[in-house]
Amino acid sequence: MSSTVLFIIIIAIILLSVGISLSLLSNFTDSKDRGSADKRIEKLLPNVNCGQCGYPGCQAYAKALSKGEARCDLCKPAGPEVAMQLAALTGQNLGSKTDFEEDLFTPRQVAFIHESSCTGCSRCVRVCRLDCIEGKIRQSHHIDKEECIGCGDCIKVCPEKCIELVRLEHNLSHYDWKITATTSSGAK
Ligand code: SF4
Ligand code: SF4
Ligand code: SF4
Repeated sequence: MSSTVLFIIIIAIILLSVGISLSLLSNFTDSKDRGSADKRIEKLLPNVNCGQCGYPGCQAYAKALSKGEARCDLCKPAGPEVAMQLAALTGQNLGSKTDFEEDLFTPRQVAFIHESSCTGCSRCVRVCRLDCIEGKIRQSHHIDKEECIGCGDCIKVCPEKCIELVRLEHNLSHYDWKITATTSSGAK
């Protein structure tokens, strides 16, 4: 083997070793950074582990946030202030605090039919894209409030003006209990 070939092989081995070392170092730094991001995020969360964010506890949610796998506005108990801080930490854009407060904490609006005034003409049924209005022709109709998205299309076509948008009251049925695992490492 000539000395030139030997030299090239040695240089190649050195470069390969440097590459592997740099990659290991970068992985180590990443996981260290992520660990500290997890901790900073976790400190902001209420630590009541109620599961309303859809994760099995605050630690799992913090992990998902630090990996960029979750939205920062899922923890209702923490409130909008914390969500804004989480947004700043994770680089997410939430819009203004007021918009966010409105989205998160105002119960959604749904359409409601005043059945005593409804003539059962079914015009509302024909325009509802969600297919959430029920009723037989010439009998009063009603709206499935769990399905209605409050778009207001039915209100525009009702000749009796007997549909209006109402705010849903918050109750336990609005809590999101999509807990998919029982350990903190099993985030959805
Ligand atoms: S919603 Fe999630 S992050 Fe917020 S307190 Fe409950 S478990 Fe913790
Ligand atoms: S508000 Fe929209 S979604 Fe709700 S019942 Fe009326 S048309 Fe359907
Ligand atoms: S459009 Fe109005 S009157 Fe006609 S069925 Fe619907 S709610 Fe009743």
